[in-house]
Amino acid sequence: PTLTDRLSQVIRDVPDFPSAGILFKDITPVLADPALMRETLSSMAEPVVGAGITHVVAVESRGFLFGMPLALELGVAFAPARKPGKLPWHTVREAYTLEYRSDVLEMHEDALTLGMPGAGRPRVLVVDDVLATGGTAAATCRLVERLGGEVVAVSVLVELGFLDGRSRLPGRRVVPVVRY
Ligand code: 5GP
Repeated sequence: PTLTDRLSQVIRDVPDFPSAGILFKDITPVLADPALMRETLSSMAEPVVGAGITHVVAVESRGFLFGMPLALELGVAFAPARKPGKLPWHTVREAYTLEYRSDVLEMHEDALTLGMPGAGRPRVLVVDDVLATGGTAAATCRLVERLGGEVVAVSVLVELGFLDGRSRLPGRRVVPVVRY
């Protein structure tokens, strides 16, 4: 079986979580399988090898589980995008609407200058576990651009294609491992 097949076999559908009518993809079984995790991370890295990525920016909190090891695999800096009030240094913020609520994401003002001592524009891979309506990824891309970075691609474990998140990411390269 392919990587996509094996991921589809272990990713669980949880009805009515976190609220009625939402069918939630539970990715925790992927985290529990180190061999599958390694292959998944290689698959997420592969499309951007040679693309000159300088930073991985991942979204709290499940995005961190894939973003940090992916940054290590690519040998680049990691920077977190977090829920409001969590980051201790000076921040920039963006509001967005989710599938099931609205929220705010913040990044440190110096998130893309850290890990980038040289000249040139930061080249960023945005990472999350699931792309649903695209609001979260779009807000993260806006944060990256406000900080002077270029979004090279948006990499997700799962794309819920029927929610058409790509329509909120026009012109952006979106690379899922699994698409439903
Ligand atoms: P969006 O902003 O694209 O509507 O929602 C994506 C964000 O919500 C991601 O940060 C993701 O972690 C979370 N999310 C939305 N739906 C799901 C889901 O079915 N499963 C998981 N694991 N996360 C989801």
